[in-house]
Amino acid sequence: MDPDLNLLEYLVGKGAHYIEESVEGTTYLPRTVIGVATHLLDMDGSVDLLTAKQKVTYEKFLKPLLFDVPCQGISGAGSCRGNGLVEAEVLKKCYFHSEFRCLACRAALAEKTG
Ligand SMILES: [Zn+2]
Repeated sequence: MDPDLNLLEYLVGKGAHYIEESVEGTTYLPRTVIGVATHLLDMDGSVDLLTAKQKVTYEKFLKPLLFDVPCQGISGAGSCRGNGLVEAEVLKKCYFHSEFRCLACRAALAEKTG
C-alpha cells in the first residue's frame, strides 16, 4: 500500500519531530529517514521505486508512522474501544492535533461529552 502523500509531507515538515522520536536510540539519523521520505514524495509515494536500502529505512521508520499507529485509548493504554490501531482515514487529523485515537474511541468520547 502506498503512503498518504499529505501525511508524508507533514512528517517531513511540521511533523518531523515524530520521525526524530522514532529514530531515537537507533543508529539511524533523522535526516536519513527524512531523506527517504522526501525522495518518496518526489516519486508520488511509489515505494516500489525506492532502492533496497531506502526500503529498509521506509519499513523500519516511515511505515509504522504511516500505517501502524497505536490508539491511545479513551483513558490511557488498554482503554481502546477499537482494534488498538488508528484508522488511515483519521490519521492525518491525529497528527495535526497530536491526539491519537481510533474511530471507535472518538465516537465513544463524543458520546460522553454529548
Ligand atoms: Zn481506540
